[in-house]
Amino acid sequence: MSLPTVATCDPERPENASAIRRGGEPVRRISVLGATGSIGTSTLDIVGRSGGQFQVVALTANTNAEQLAELAKRHRAEIAVVADPDQYQVLATALAGTGIEAAAGADALDAAASMPADCVVAAIVGAAGLRPTFAAVRQGRRVALANKECLVSAGQAFMSEVERCGSELLPVDSEHSAAFQTLLAAAPETIDAITLTASGGPFRTYSKEQLENVTRAEALAHPTWSMGAKISIDSATMMNKGLELIEAWHLFPVTPEQLKVLVHPQSIVHCLVSYCDGSVLAQMASPDMRTPISLALAWPGRMPTPTKRLYLAEIATLTFEAADEDRFPALRLAREAMARGGAAPAILNAANEVAVAAFLENRIGFVDIVKTVALCCESAEKEGLMTKCDTLSEVLGVDAAARCLAAAIITH
Ligand code: NDP
Repeated sequence: MSLPTVATCDPERPENASAIRRGGEPVRRISVLGATGSIGTSTLDIVGRSGGQFQVVALTANTNAEQLAELAKRHRAEIAVVADPDQYQVLATALAGTGIEAAAGADALDAAASMPADCVVAAIVGAAGLRPTFAAVRQGRRVALANKECLVSAGQAFMSEVERCGSELLPVDSEHSAAFQTLLAAAPETIDAITLTASGGPFRTYSKEQLENVTRAEALAHPTWSMGAKISIDSATMMNKGLELIEAWHLFPVTPEQLKVLVHPQSIVHCLVSYCDGSVLAQMASPDMRTPISLALAWPGRMPTPTKRLYLAEIATLTFEAADEDRFPALRLAREAMARGGAAPAILNAANEVAVAAFLENRIGFVDIVKTVALCCESAEKEGLMTKCDTLSEVLGVDAAARCLAAAIITH
């Protein structure tokens, strides 16, 4: 494993050569997959404030055609794509007369991800992001990766494809962006440990008994970050931190044992890297995804963001505590899947997506989410699903099978 390929602006690349130039700076062509979501809209907020540094190529969404059309018009995109074909007419009508192309369906999504661009922001939620993100990687693009599922479910296949296609992978997840920055300080063999911080979510101090009765609204109310529904629930169960461990394992040159989790309720320190000489380097910023997104867009430079500046004297106290795997067993399940490798992380992820969706639809309780994932992993073992998973099509096959198992567990 190695550090992600560091992105550079290569003037020989055809998309750069054709870029419009303002004041000598190339305008960067950017596509945003999952443009209507939390990461997508934060990305477009940065694009809108950048004073014309970016030219928007493709914007995509799942079903939210009206919001997508608004964003496409505001940012003068070349094409807008909805994954859901039933929303095509709404999108096409909203974009009529604007010169912006409208398209729909899975193939159109892959085609949009493959369009010439300097950077593709992969911000679709869940395994639905795999195919289009792989499509962007196959074009050798810079990929600003928010869709952690590419690394959780298909880590080996994804990293092989990144290397084979000469893609430039930059992490957007705040902890991984922080690790990426702090790891630049020294040689990989001098790393002792990478510690991802976790806010602990809304139920950090709850007992096991209290966790039995929490509601959907309480689980969605994250104390420090504003995020989409799925990742908010994952933060509440701490599955998000488990998924991030697997993500970090694929991105950085460390073993699973070198990856640690530390609960830090203020979400100011995002990651700590410990070196063999006893030094610990940390990255800090206010909890606002526009900071890591902007780094991925501007790398190897930086660009201004309106993120609240850190006044540590005002914050005064930063606290840290050990993660409790007894109350939050998702962390243990993720570690087990990481140790098992092969199809195990894809099964964990698929089961979790199905269980979180069921919780959001009030079909199961909060603690049933992780119970469902554990049962699904056991059941997958018995069904012989824990095989190797080296290609995208193998991953998609395992993902589909695990979803059926999880759905059956929820129904019974
Ligand atoms: P949101 O739920 O806010 O947005 C998801 C986006 O993906 C929307 O544009 C949605 O479209 C689109 N989408 C959903 N399902 C599909 C599908 N089946 N096919 C195509 N597009 C689809 O998610 P977030 O922005 O919170 O998260 C996006 C990714 O970034 C996740 O992988 C998450 O783990 C990761 N991430 C998010 C962080 C955050 O702060 N939000 C932090 C770090 C990582 P539509 O609006 O039409 O439903």
